[in-house]
Amino acid sequence: MVQKNGGKISGIGQTRFAPTPSGFLHAGNAANALITFGLAAKFGAKVLLRIDDLDATRVRPEYLQDIFEVLDGLQLHPDQGPKNPAEMAEWSQHRRLKNYQQLLDQLVLTGRVYACRCSRNQLLQAGYGGRYPGICRHKNLPLDQPGLSWRLNTEGLEPVHWQDAWLGSQTGQGAANEGDFVIRRKDGLPAYHVASLSDDVQFGINLIVRGQDLAGSTATQLQLARLAGLEAFGKAVFVHHPLLKSPDGQKLSKSAGAAAINRTASSNQAAENRLSPANSQSETTNTPSAPHSPGNRGPSPTEHYRNVAVLLGADPGQLPKEPTWADLLEVFDAHDLPHPGALHLSL
Ligand SMILES: [Zn+2]
Repeated sequence: MVQKNGGKISGIGQTRFAPTPSGFLHAGNAANALITFGLAAKFGAKVLLRIDDLDATRVRPEYLQDIFEVLDGLQLHPDQGPKNPAEMAEWSQHRRLKNYQQLLDQLVLTGRVYACRCSRNQLLQAGYGGRYPGICRHKNLPLDQPGLSWRLNTEGLEPVHWQDAWLGSQTGQGAANEGDFVIRRKDGLPAYHVASLSDDVQFGINLIVRGQDLAGSTATQLQLARLAGLEAFGKAVFVHHPLLKSPDGQKLSKSAGAAAINRTASSNQAAENRLSPANSQSETTNTPSAPHSPGNRGPSPTEHYRNVAVLLGADPGQLPKEPTWADLLEVFDAHDLPHPGALHLSL
């Protein structure tokens, strides 16, 4: 149990870095990894590497390999989870399907779950846009009929509140903003939010570190946790950190074509040149990328350490020219996180 004691936080035992192997990691993912591991070091927490491989159609072996190489390059060493791609068989989310179904069954007990036969195309053709209008809500389709998705009836759901360690007081509806959202897919697999919540509870995660673009996911998962009676999840410390931005102010993401960290030397350099954390652009040009060869892959971690130090508010002029992991940890130690009040969560 996390406790606040004279402004100090104790009892944060376990956090996780949870990438999805559906693309190469980019600088935004590196920042999230560094902040996760940095806060874990600050609080003496263990880090689980949880690779979200539920959607097998999007997983590619080279993306899986990339995760291990990038972590290695950043000198980050998870305490728990797979150590290499071969160990993924043991840690795959597909081994935990029973847990996910148990959570789904808990949600069914609320009386809010119903089966839906609408296809995405049908909804698009009917002009419904992003918000599901509840077409199947009262059809009483059988939940055990194959090929149907399960949706959560969101009528009358109260918003959730949490004290975010970075953002302060937060209120949100998450996926309920899009109406009755899918919690189990047509193929029988749980939706991302169900799997992520179930895993966090099972592994005893009590520090959840995400980019600020994912605050809505937290709201969704808090909502599901409340419905399923998973109080432990609501007692976790949530940190939603700022995002690295490209020079044109866009967030870095796979879909926006952010350059991978760990591909060719030229793409590494391109990635570094495209980054624009406040005031640090001038430092990128004199950091040559490592040659792209086995055993010596990826760029120097220096630039990623610098990005995160600046995101945490460090003065770029005060940072060493080539900051090390130890330098970055000093920045974490100095940083006022979590903010007082982070633990007053009302589920
Ligand atoms: Zn439907």
